[in-house]
Amino acid sequence: MTDVCATEAAYSSGVYAKHPIALVRGEGARLWDLEGREYLDCMAGHGVANLGHAHPLVAAAIAEQAQRLITCHEAFCNDQRSALLQRLGSLVPGLDRVYLCNSGTEAVEAAIKFARLTTGRAGIVAAMRGFHGRTLGALSATWNKHYREPFEPLVPGFRHFPYNNAAALEQAMDEETAAVILEIVQGEGGVHLGTPEFLQAAQDLCRRRGVLLIIDEVQTGFGRTGKLLAIEHTGLTPDLLCVAKSLAGGIPMGAVLMGPAVAAQPAGTHGSTFGGNPLACAAALATLEVMARDDLPGQAARKGRYLLEQLRAIDSPAVREVRGLGLMIGIELRHKVAKSLQAMLERGVIALPAGLTVLRLLPPLVITDEQLERVLTVLREVLAGTLPDADDA
Ligand SMILES: *Cc1c(COP(=O)(O)O)cnc(C)c1O
Repeated sequence: MTDVCATEAAYSSGVYAKHPIALVRGEGARLWDLEGREYLDCMAGHGVANLGHAHPLVAAAIAEQAQRLITCHEAFCNDQRSALLQRLGSLVPGLDRVYLCNSGTEAVEAAIKFARLTTGRAGIVAAMRGFHGRTLGALSATWNKHYREPFEPLVPGFRHFPYNNAAALEQAMDEETAAVILEIVQGEGGVHLGTPEFLQAAQDLCRRRGVLLIIDEVQTGFGRTGKLLAIEHTGLTPDLLCVAKSLAGGIPMGAVLMGPAVAAQPAGTHGSTFGGNPLACAAALATLEVMARDDLPGQAARKGRYLLEQLRAIDSPAVREVRGLGLMIGIELRHKVAKSLQAMLERGVIALPAGLTVLRLLPPLVITDEQLERVLTVLREVLAGTLPDADDA
């Protein structure tokens, strides 16, 4: 057999920084590499594997649907899609229309287009430290210069304001503003929680000025924060709600839920070849069923509370702050995060960064209590052992 990682290095585009580890199998929160070494997954593919890996019900739904019908353009109806549209359209009272696509950035892209078409205005206001994807429209809403600058000029009409600052949001809005786009917890930006007062004020401002509110729940959705959707912590009802990542249990899928202010969009104004394909719809239906049956949001709430409490009790000079909601947790370090992540990996735990100094944990929501203890043991060891290097501080 060829060396898997050497071949990837030789042939892949190069846009990903890769660990030289080939993961080939998973079960629940566990992963195995080619050599049979076991890892505990606290990354879940950036928050995709909320149900854990190779969930038997999702695998069965995919296998069964694959033998019946894999593709069916939305020019025709389909039983799986019909069931999923109804399911997603019933998740949030008032948001009863749904656009299906294939990724988070596509969901954001669609929401921006729907907002522009509905209002006849072009302006989009987004938050500093926000992340909304990497296609050019979504990238224009994303804050991090590192993602944006190489690709300028971006789409005109986008402005950014400091997150959690309602007065600054009001200043950033004008006559041309079509929509405001926000995360409830900023994920890629470092696991920063929106305050309830700010989020409510943002919605009030939007309503008062006839501006649409887009909430991006691509990372926070489907149990991650301890509720099925993070808006349930806030009482917000956005006009457009973007989801993706864990929606279809690992099969690529995104969706936009739409409220009455957006209503139905005119035929032909937007679309996607793969959007709403029966395979992804069947996977999503199975995922949502497991999520409800096993109360995964409740599990995330309980496990997340415990994890936060235990992490906050770690007495380490390396830790500046521990933040989180449910099983979306960030440990802000006093030094760069790369070496700590590497030390965890060497001890068999996969975690991920959120920016340069935040160690982020996004484990599958099915992670067991025993596995959480193992993660905590490794973190205590790694955080006790890491002091800032001179060039790192
Ligand atoms: C991951 C993410 C996206 C982009 O999703 P992709 O599927 O990678 O395109 C958008 N918004 C948020 C909040 C995300 O976390």
